[in-house]
Amino acid sequence: MEAQTKQCQNCKQDFTIEPDDFGFYEKIKVPPPTFCPECRRQRRLAWRNNVTLYNRSCELCKKPVVTIYSKESAITIYCNKCWWGDGWDALSYGQDYDFSRPFFEQYDELARKVPHMALINDDGIASVNCEYTQDFAFGKNCYMVFIAWHIESVMYSYFILAGRDMMDCMNIRSKSEWLYECMITSLSYQVKYSRFCLACIDSQFLYDCRDCTNCFMCAGIHNKKFCYKNEQYSEEEYNKILASYRLDTFSGVEKAQKEHDEFILKYPRRFADNLRNDGNVTGDVISYSKNLKDCFITKKSENCRYCDLVSDGKDSYDLLNGGELSECYESMTPDQSNRNFFGVYSWKNQDVQYTQHCHSSKSLFGCAGLKKNKYCILNKQYTKEEYEELVPKIIEQMNNMPYKDKNGNTYKYGEFYPAELSCFGYNETEAPEHFPLTKDEALKKGYKWQDNIQRTTGKETLKPEDIPESINDIDDSILEEVLACIGCKRNYKIVPNELIFYKKMKIPIPRRCFYCRHEARLKRRNPFKLWHRQCMCDKENHLHKGKCEVEFETSYALERPEIVYCEKCYQQEVY
Ligand SMILES: [Zn+2]
Ligand SMILES: [Zn+2]
Ligand SMILES: [Zn+2]
Ligand SMILES: [Zn+2]
Ligand SMILES: [Zn+2]
Repeated sequence: MEAQTKQCQNCKQDFTIEPDDFGFYEKIKVPPPTFCPECRRQRRLAWRNNVTLYNRSCELCKKPVVTIYSKESAITIYCNKCWWGDGWDALSYGQDYDFSRPFFEQYDELARKVPHMALINDDGIASVNCEYTQDFAFGKNCYMVFIAWHIESVMYSYFILAGRDMMDCMNIRSKSEWLYECMITSLSYQVKYSRFCLACIDSQFLYDCRDCTNCFMCAGIHNKKFCYKNEQYSEEEYNKILASYRLDTFSGVEKAQKEHDEFILKYPRRFADNLRNDGNVTGDVISYSKNLKDCFITKKSENCRYCDLVSDGKDSYDLLNGGELSECYESMTPDQSNRNFFGVYSWKNQDVQYTQHCHSSKSLFGCAGLKKNKYCILNKQYTKEEYEELVPKIIEQMNNMPYKDKNGNTYKYGEFYPAELSCFGYNETEAPEHFPLTKDEALKKGYKWQDNIQRTTGKETLKPEDIPESINDIDDSILEEVLACIGCKRNYKIVPNELIFYKKMKIPIPRRCFYCRHEARLKRRNPFKLWHRQCMCDKENHLHKGKCEVEFETSYALERPEIVYCEKCYQQEVY
């Protein structure tokens, strides 16, 4: 099939469906999308609450729990032990399919009735002591970690796929230990305040460095020891400089951070942080992959398009987080699944469509909260024959009687869930990180808004200015104090394992709450968007005469201050 230009029914902008895309839709037997890629991403994100948490009670055992569902969502929540336990039966919520009503209306009723896990994790199943984690599996002793698996002793971090002993990190995809405030850093040990580093040890404030030991405030160097601002020093001089910054103090770290931010702007960056890929990939932060288009923060994947934060993904489109999956489409976290379409937190499934929180199941359509089930529709059990007869009829009915949202968009078979049916207010979800909207704008576009985001303020027992500057002057009494964030004023506490970490790594007590620290890291991340640009290099000793003419797709917008190079020029300059 030839490329086709379509108009997005939501934003009315044109978008192109390419021959390969048609091939994919044909292969998985779904009709081509009617929303453009950006609107599809925004719609998925509006279903995903990453870090907005509430204190509520399990509605089965009554135990207090932390949850991503506010009271206003009216979602019944169970603690993880109860949810995974045998004390309830999701099939008891089963309903007959009503051919006189749109599918999304019926499915919404069911999905809201079925109890949800307070926080989506496998604590007590495959994870140990990881109660306060969200979208999390296969971990040990973790706290306040979001989107992670196969990790140990990690705190206050986001999207961590391997490693142990980390705090305040983001996008760590290969094994590392003892990292603090690091992003996209691999195979490193005892590194702080660094980004895009590989195999670095005992270092701090590095950007895009490899195989460095004992380096400080450097950018784009490799195989170095005792470097400061990319200059070589003796061990003694280096230690003197490092000590002069007083990184054990809050003001010392703030000063170094500012200096580092200014310092790295002088050094060229590669147009995309795409490493060790085979053949063509477009996007950013892609490694060990093949044939990816418009993907972001994705590794070890092939033949995917519009996938964000995916690892070990194959032949899939339109995913928001996920790992070890194949032939998945328009899903959020379809982990360890094959042919999981329109799934929200449904793991280890095969041939399932429109499911939320269904696990280890096969052949489901429009189900919620099922575990190890087969041939169910709207949580009702059918025989294989009945199921195979009914599903095509429902698909036909979905096309003849589509759901209409408040903005007049129609949802036939093949569309993800309407954003207006999300359990979350727009401001509770991940969507504003990529598509910021005011309350009025969000409501006008049909999103919900949460006016009661839970936060405590004014209860502090220790003011920020009264916290000792250096970690060396902190004792266990800090664990009893209620602190107040210097950014958002929110109250927060230091937990025992956190203090142990700060002491060992010589890190001052943070003056900002987790939410502000997380937001600051998100702001350092490039957008999930590509601009067509030209290499900025005009170096005379390079192969090109005059300005380099190589063009590329980059997540650095034209107006940004960074110096952006093509791969060749970058390699020549930096390595
Ligand atoms: Zn659109
Ligand atoms: Zn419970
Ligand atoms: Zn804050
Ligand atoms: Zn170039
Ligand atoms: Zn050049």
